[in-house]
Amino acid sequence: MSSDPYDYSLSEPDKPAKAIESGLYIVATPIGNLADMSQRAVDMLRAADLVAVEDSRVTGKLLHHLGLKKRMRPYHDHSSEADRDALLAAAREGVVVLVSDAGTPLISDPGYKLVRAAREAGIPVSTAPGPSAAITALSISGLPTDRFLFAGFLPSKAKARADAITEFADVKTTLLFYESGPRLAATLATLAEMLGPREAAVARELTKKFEEVVSGTLPELAERYAGAEPRGEIVLIVGPPVEVQAEQGDYESALKIALETLPPAKAAKDIAKRFGVDRAEVYERAMGLKAKE
Ligand code: SAM
Repeated sequence: MSSDPYDYSLSEPDKPAKAIESGLYIVATPIGNLADMSQRAVDMLRAADLVAVEDSRVTGKLLHHLGLKKRMRPYHDHSSEADRDALLAAAREGVVVLVSDAGTPLISDPGYKLVRAAREAGIPVSTAPGPSAAITALSISGLPTDRFLFAGFLPSKAKARADAITEFADVKTTLLFYESGPRLAATLATLAEMLGPREAAVARELTKKFEEVVSGTLPELAERYAGAEPRGEIVLIVGPPVEVQAEQGDYESALKIALETLPPAKAAKDIAKRFGVDRAEVYERAMGLKAKE
């Protein structure tokens, strides 16, 4: 067996692409720089009998740039079962490629139900892997990469958002969130309040002209972006919990937030763990706060 880990058969631009068998192909597209389109991704699009897309205008531009004209069909996870069945029928007979507007399909993008249904139906599923904003951001953030949790977009409603953050607070890994400019300041403020002074980074416009990664603790970043509405696309990376031996006063605001969504015993358990303080003491404080309500 060759020690070469690569199969070059599809990646030589001057040779005709190897025939692609019928099935469903999950094809990643660039997240900002067209030069990140892989040769295999181009080959699969060239071989496609049908391209399932989020937005035909966005994918139409990409196809045009590649000199390809293809039949497109919209697909979202809320598409009907009949729509999914039509794509599966096409994938039995020919090459169906799924792309999203940018990056890797299924990662905070449509495709999960389609891939699941294709696998259940015994239809071959393969991929041309490529850029994804989460991994791109993590790889240049300077934050721990050994274990991470991809959390997608946080809910926009305050209570649901606080519940989600409470859920992630105990996870001892780096956390990755997708975020938008208009929501960044509020998200950073809530994260700073609920997770304390963890290291974090705001990665913006990755692979584009104005790419930047701004690092700092959550409170520092919350202050820096307060009132600001940075342009472009953003990934927020939050490092694992720091072991903080806080003064009693420091955990009180976090406890108040926890009490909005949790019963006192659970809130006390979470806060005691996060701040490294005695659980009974935090519980007593929680009951005091409840009594004042
Ligand atoms: N499937 C895509 C992927 O693999 O990255 C993500 C799709 S999700 C709907 C779009 C979000 O990804 C944006 O709101 C932003 O948070 C993040 N994103 C996409 N492109 C980005 C970029 N160039 N720089 C920073 N974040 C980006």
